[in-house]
Amino acid sequence: MTSLSSDAVRLACAWGTRMRHRIALTFWACATVPTALAAGSPAAIDANCSPFLTTPVFMDKVPSPEAVLGFPIGEREVTTAESDTYLDAVDRASARVVTGTAAMSVEGRPLRYGIVGREGNVTQDGLRTIRAAIQQLMDPETRNKLAADLATSTPAILWVTGNVHGNEESGADAALQVLYALADRNDCVVARILDNAIVVVLPIQNPDGREAKTRRNAYGFDLNRDWFARTQNETDGKLDLLRQYPPVLYIDAHEFGTKTFFFPPNADPVYHEVPESPFKWINNIYAAAIGTEMDRQRIPFFHGSPYDLYAVEYGDSVPTVGFHAAGMTFEKYNGDPIDTRAYEQFVAMWTSLFAAATEKARILNEWHLSYVDAKKQGADGTLEPNGIYLDGKDLLQAVPDWPVRHYFLLNEPARWRELAQLVRRLQRMNVKVWSLKEETYVGNFRPYGSQTDLRTSLPAGTYWIPMDQGQKHWIQAMLHEDPYIPVSVSYDVSAWSNPLLMNLSGGSSGEILAPTATLVPLVAEPALRGPPARAPKIGLFEIPGSATAFESAGSIRYLFERVWGVPYTQVTVDMIKAGLREIDVLLVPDGYVNYGLQALGAQGKKALAAWVERGGRYVGYLGGTELAVKAGISTVVLQTSHTSAPGTLIRVKLAPASPLAAGVDPNPEGTTTSEHPPTVWVMYFDDDRMTAGMGMAAATFPAHDDPEFATSGLAIGVDELDGSAAIVDEAVGSGRAVLFSFDPNFRAWTGGTQHLLWNALYGHTPAAVPAQPATVRVAARDRSERAAQALPDVGKAIRIVVHPQDGDVTRALLERYGAEFKELRKPERTIFLIENRKALSWEEHPFALDLARDLRQQVSPISFSVR
Ligand SMILES: [Zn+2]
Repeated sequence: MTSLSSDAVRLACAWGTRMRHRIALTFWACATVPTALAAGSPAAIDANCSPFLTTPVFMDKVPSPEAVLGFPIGEREVTTAESDTYLDAVDRASARVVTGTAAMSVEGRPLRYGIVGREGNVTQDGLRTIRAAIQQLMDPETRNKLAADLATSTPAILWVTGNVHGNEESGADAALQVLYALADRNDCVVARILDNAIVVVLPIQNPDGREAKTRRNAYGFDLNRDWFARTQNETDGKLDLLRQYPPVLYIDAHEFGTKTFFFPPNADPVYHEVPESPFKWINNIYAAAIGTEMDRQRIPFFHGSPYDLYAVEYGDSVPTVGFHAAGMTFEKYNGDPIDTRAYEQFVAMWTSLFAAATEKARILNEWHLSYVDAKKQGADGTLEPNGIYLDGKDLLQAVPDWPVRHYFLLNEPARWRELAQLVRRLQRMNVKVWSLKEETYVGNFRPYGSQTDLRTSLPAGTYWIPMDQGQKHWIQAMLHEDPYIPVSVSYDVSAWSNPLLMNLSGGSSGEILAPTATLVPLVAEPALRGPPARAPKIGLFEIPGSATAFESAGSIRYLFERVWGVPYTQVTVDMIKAGLREIDVLLVPDGYVNYGLQALGAQGKKALAAWVERGGRYVGYLGGTELAVKAGISTVVLQTSHTSAPGTLIRVKLAPASPLAAGVDPNPEGTTTSEHPPTVWVMYFDDDRMTAGMGMAAATFPAHDDPEFATSGLAIGVDELDGSAAIVDEAVGSGRAVLFSFDPNFRAWTGGTQHLLWNALYGHTPAAVPAQPATVRVAARDRSERAAQALPDVGKAIRIVVHPQDGDVTRALLERYGAEFKELRKPERTIFLIENRKALSWEEHPFALDLARDLRQQVSPISFSVR
């Protein structure tokens, strides 16, 4: 609806000042470079050599895309195979280019990449020499004098990537054009880049998605949310290659539905451990250069909302926090023809590469100092403060000033899989993990989920991760208990603490310690778990029709096939109508329930309920839970929540006697009592509030004054959940329904609640199932169904939460956009739920992005989320 020119954006811009370690860093917050800053930047003043004013000189030694593919870049989108073909052709023709394969996709397509540089730099010896020098620069122990010399003599490693979302094509096409230009041109622009850098070009990060024209990969994963967890081959292989060729610049080119172009500066919130130097390069070097060039070429663009730099899960935040690189997201309007899309992406990429090359020695030197500074912060136990950079609001939550020098993870045998996964994850991001050789006394030990420090002894074998490392920022980003969100609006999840996601015991300490410990060698990937003996026959029903269901069922297929290694049957509507005779346990993940009901029809609903009555076990979550209610199976009561907690970790209590709690124990000694029940951290995404009906609450959200109550991330209004059920186990005839109010396999991140899902599928039936008189059951079912009918029929809604006084403005805006929405009022908050039945993402949705930006210019929303 709105197409903002850069002029319009400029009006909304402000100067920001960031205070850290008594250094005030001023950056321009929006739009173009102030003249004074530009004058200091060689990239901006070099009249003799400019990325777009200098006439390109092609040597015609390397075939152009047109010569190889039969059409120029921009005539139509290249296919994955054509992209691969072109990489091969350039590799054959050019001594400046070597190619390789970063990973194989789920469907077996290679993620092909090229490295382009001066001939001597891209031989095996050349690359080895560069990698060794880069390792020295990343090492905080390298003396500054040597580092300064290396910064001058070593090429920087710059990454250009695209198409992590399969239906956002143009970054790939532009990256091929970058590769061609770097391989064949012989002019001052390319000379500057090749004299100062090697460039890794990975055009297609998601080949399966590109071929299927889907955002997600073949397992339904959004690969731009998979970076820290690296569950998918595509992500894992890419990160291995990044570790081999650590970047100082990582460009991740996307597309969206807004009629303009986005590049940083990012919106608030910014994660507090984003290192200073790359943050500064992003804003002062790259964004400045791109802004100048796009202004010159009259290409419209904007900065800021809703693209933040907060959750450490993306192709910008992970390179930035994990590699101290300038990680940048670009977004180009997907409705423009491919030549425009590819050209504008090329402009942003090419300008960035030239700017990086121009500033290379300074960047590499500051890069080294950034690692030195990180290690020193770790030794001092200093957490980076957080701040507000664009919004001009008050800080929601400051980073506390208590010291954190160490993290510890208890080596509990029952958790060995999650521990292996996490330790391996850390190690493969260059974190050193140690194992205590003897029992060690630790003062100021703060266990996860506790507000009080204690003096305790940690047993031998406990994993110890000291912060006194170059990867201090990454350690904090993965092992923190709380991400300290600076403002209440987050682009995606507000929490991602790895130990909490995995429900591991451990904590931090600020004490100065020198434990006796051994360095842990690289931990092997845990083998598939394998099915239990006499496993029941598992069926998986994907509710048809929405991206939610594809993603949710896809993450289950991934879990079953690649983590657990268990057999299952994909259940169809026809199989349900035919009575599901071959299936013992039916799993129904999330999805838009009304599409499911339409597909099942009256006959399917009846058959499903009859199957449970006859002894089937129905396991559902989110949409799958709602389906159980609307198909007349369960009596749980679902109500829309009024919370503002998009992707928040909340600790829930398990009923100790429930078979769902088997193997989940918070105490290393295995002493579960009614005072200290087993607990697990749940990934809560403003899910519906559930009460047990006639079933038993197997997991409960604790009350606020309960010692087990704990949250991580944005948790506004979660007191509404007090005492409500997170899991209900209900006897239904001879069968049973196990229903989750949350996603126990959220993006396959949640090792902790995956245990509960395992127990739901394979665990015992509760010993005593109370018999329910039929009349009581009918009344309960009626209550449950009425509540479900009252749920707003909006699918996976876009959720806007505002202060009541901002309700009118928000409503007017929604009406202007022609949005279909429901409004819920609480004294403290007004909630708008906007229809999103197909579960479109920010980028795919016709107006979510524009709406978010318009809204943030008029009011300060409490939160705004798209799931
Ligand atoms: Zn995207």
